[in-house]
Amino acid sequence: MKKTPAPKNPVGGKGTMVVFTDLDGTLLDDATYSFDAAREALAELRAREIPLVIVSSKTRAEIEPIRLQLQNRHPFIVENGGAVFIPLQYFSFPLNDAVHRRNYHVVEMGTPYPLLRRALKEIQQTVGRELRGYGDMSIEEITVRTGLLPKNAQLSQQREYDEPFIIEGQACPEERLIKAINERGLRYTKGDRFYHLMGPHDKGRAVRYLNRWYRLQAGHGHNALKTVGIGNSLNDLPMLEAVDRPIIVQQTDGSYEPGITLPQLTRAPGPGPIGWNRAVLSLLQ
Ligand SMILES: [Mg+2]
Repeated sequence: MKKTPAPKNPVGGKGTMVVFTDLDGTLLDDATYSFDAAREALAELRAREIPLVIVSSKTRAEIEPIRLQLQNRHPFIVENGGAVFIPLQYFSFPLNDAVHRRNYHVVEMGTPYPLLRRALKEIQQTVGRELRGYGDMSIEEITVRTGLLPKNAQLSQQREYDEPFIIEGQACPEERLIKAINERGLRYTKGDRFYHLMGPHDKGRAVRYLNRWYRLQAGHGHNALKTVGIGNSLNDLPMLEAVDRPIIVQQTDGSYEPGITLPQLTRAPGPGPIGWNRAVLSLLQ
């Protein structure tokens, strides 16, 4: 019988590495939402059975079809860390703090959406600027603002833990906005196109939660488990702080998010999925 060839390189493989990635502007091209430019590295991760965990501000409804296209069977994190979805039987031990919903164990970390919607209106009163939330926008407005196709814009509106918003008209002093948000026990972060109003959760908390399970799964080898995070915007910072190897890709204009500075930070040579592909391939070398 023919023996399966050993991987060209011993780096990677089950239980040795986990890659956490943002989608918009990172694995997905900022304008076309395509991951074509990263196909080579994606195939390499699959071949080595290295888990690729999506960590996005997108909703579950938006992430599910992207996972299918990626043939991805790993856990994923929605709405900036609002919840962690873990496929049933993915880990070989019970997840006590998760609830069983459809094909997943779900761990909810976020504040329920209706509370965020109410808070946004109160904060608008306090700061005296119109804060236009996703829930105020028509599908048409969302397609114009994001470049999403109408059917995808509809999926993006099925929000559960995070309200993207814009400030209409005159800019609002940031301290005033932050104060009004914090006073309500909430937080905000800046994504690619929107501010995001959310509860006291972030991508980092969700990534740390999953890391614990990956380390437990790796058992004795858990010290050798290397965690990688790839992002492009400020809302990725908590995720990048939670991993061993933080990586950022370029924005479309070739710049890097200036607000992200970490001692171990790698700046990938290339925007979005082009930088992603190069960074991951060089990591696996
Ligand atoms: Mg992004």
